[in-house]
Amino acid sequence: MFQLVAKIELRLWHPFFISSVTISETSFTLTYEDKLQTTVNTPIPFDGVGLHSGAAVRLVIRPAGADHGIVFRRVDCASEVGDIPGMWDHVLQSPLCTKLENAQGIQVSTVEHVMAALMGCGVHNALVTVDGPEAPILDGSSVEFVRGILSCGLRQLDRPVRALRVLAPVEVRRGDAVARLTPHNELTIEFDIDFADTAIGVQKKTLNMANGSFVRELASSRTFCRKSDVDAMRANGLALGGTLENAVVVDGADVLSPGGLRHQDEAVRHKMLDALGDLALAGAPILGHYHGSRAGHALTNDLLRLLFATPDSFEWMICDADVAARLPGAGVHWGELPRVA
Ligand SMILES: [Zn+2]
Repeated sequence: MFQLVAKIELRLWHPFFISSVTISETSFTLTYEDKLQTTVNTPIPFDGVGLHSGAAVRLVIRPAGADHGIVFRRVDCASEVGDIPGMWDHVLQSPLCTKLENAQGIQVSTVEHVMAALMGCGVHNALVTVDGPEAPILDGSSVEFVRGILSCGLRQLDRPVRALRVLAPVEVRRGDAVARLTPHNELTIEFDIDFADTAIGVQKKTLNMANGSFVRELASSRTFCRKSDVDAMRANGLALGGTLENAVVVDGADVLSPGGLRHQDEAVRHKMLDALGDLALAGAPILGHYHGSRAGHALTNDLLRLLFATPDSFEWMICDADVAARLPGAGVHWGELPRVA
């Protein structure tokens, strides 16, 4: 007796991707030590207001199939024009948030906190619907997105996850701000900031993004700003949805937000959260060391643009179990989600 075992070549969706894996057609059991892609189990709704518009908005993280990636959909726009890929090459650079735009000019703003939550929880595929131009700010951190994702749970899909491995350093600068990626076995994020307001001052932190550290260490850290910046933004019709509850507002040595800080170094932790969300726009988990010094959303996007313009600086790889254990989302535990108001 012969047992015919046909082999199927799986090629993933990215044009740079050249590796392949083989599965048995008879069982569709993957024949290697793999890590499969994931999506959320069920739609997860979030209701809030846009930080800058102040308008009510509903965002829903919905299940999606393998190789779909993260895609935003403006459900208040015509269906044929409303999809916006959550990818680095769709970023419309903006100083205050990460804004995406598709070829039809449809935009969605402030995507970095939900992108960080998806990457930090190991969600590779999702359709994120929004009924307005700006994602809800919620409490100014990623913790509500993370709570929703973890309470809903993930399911595995039938394709292996791939990662982007940094092979050579890339660096971008704007004035005294620097963002850099260098080769490393895990995604580590290093960040330092230096603010004149002594309530923030000089802060520096480095974390490995595997072992559940995003959920435990970063997810609850809120966006922050100086009172003088809030006054200027309001004068320009921005930050209309900002409150002392959904942003940490500082004025010199004083923290104006009631309840104070969630961490003594909450500001640099939030910058690391933002960096993870902006790096997630690479379209896959990154294996490399990111260092941001006074960097912002636009500079991290510059870094991804330079990375993808420098083919020798990275490679795509299929993740085996060893690599998968070193990705963001590995080791996430519900019990480590910080309790916040
Ligand atoms: Zn942020």
